[in-house]
Amino acid sequence: MNIHDVENNVRSGKRITREEAHILLQEENWPILQTLANEKRIKEVGDEVFYAVTLFLYPTNLCELNCPFCSYYAKPGWKNAWFMTPAEIEEKVKANLHYGLNEVHIVGGLWHECDLGYYKETFERIKSLDSDIHIKALTAVEYDYLARLHGISVEEVLDRMVSYGLGSIPGGGAEVFVDSLREKLAPGKIDSDTFLNIHRIAHKKGLSTNITLLYGSIEEWDDIITHFEKVRNLQDETGGFTTFIPLKYHDENNALGKRKQRLKPKDARPLYALARIFLDNIPILKALWNYQGVPLALELLDWGVNDFASTALDEKVITMAGGVQIKMDGPTMENLILSKGRKPQKVHSGFRMACN
Ligand code: SF4
Repeated sequence: MNIHDVENNVRSGKRITREEAHILLQEENWPILQTLANEKRIKEVGDEVFYAVTLFLYPTNLCELNCPFCSYYAKPGWKNAWFMTPAEIEEKVKANLHYGLNEVHIVGGLWHECDLGYYKETFERIKSLDSDIHIKALTAVEYDYLARLHGISVEEVLDRMVSYGLGSIPGGGAEVFVDSLREKLAPGKIDSDTFLNIHRIAHKKGLSTNITLLYGSIEEWDDIITHFEKVRNLQDETGGFTTFIPLKYHDENNALGKRKQRLKPKDARPLYALARIFLDNIPILKALWNYQGVPLALELLDWGVNDFASTALDEKVITMAGGVQIKMDGPTMENLILSKGRKPQKVHSGFRMACN
């Protein structure tokens, strides 16, 4: 098989194999990879570029784990530790309503004070301000933690959270679905199958979820393809993933980043283009400008991307890990998308679109 066979297969709508993915990833084939990803994006999802006006809320950075790749966590007594009460979260949402907020994104550390009662009060306070605000909250890792904390099933946790106002589930905590790597990146976290099964349970309950990939740490391209394959297989089964989001690993302020010789940074462009082609059953491919920097995120719109993420009214994770600090509001976001000749479309994470 050569690159022209792969080209023909992609253009005829055939699903690509691992071998074909590796051929597309050879650097001399990147121009073809980009062209194919762009063609597929135009054919399947058109010129619209989605964005949301999102308030990121981090109830606490206290965490029982200390994952080596993480720049976020703190332990009790650390100067940088914080904990927000439900009333403080309500105040913060209230203070940001004038931005045209249409969703909140809530994730935090694994911490016993953030139990089901805490989220019940928090969600109810947010909904009391505006019942239309979409609540996207907690990763699969946090749902597993809550189930263990309360001695109930993940199904029961999700049912209760939906009754409090949960709208959808973010995709963080996925890292790379290769367990030998997960053991090095995040040894205390749930394994790949457990993580994916929590998304399966959510999908079967009608909840849409996002899914991420942590790239540029210690993985090989072949591990990324394995990750893609597992995501594609679950999507074939449930259809519940809305958006795929590659997350660039930042090496500042974490234990893994101190061992630079182990790191394998990657060019984001072929990764995104391959995601557009390989994940043929997930319609939305999101570039996080605050992880990538605005110029690269804009360039990624030409490599298969159709979602420019969201305003970042309070993005602690990125800022702390050395990312760009920008107050990006809705009009700024729209102008950036228009500058690429594309059509901005404001949505929230509960929005679903289908691949043609
Ligand atoms: S990645 Fe999540 S679970 Fe791991 S230490 Fe950081 S906050 Fe805790």
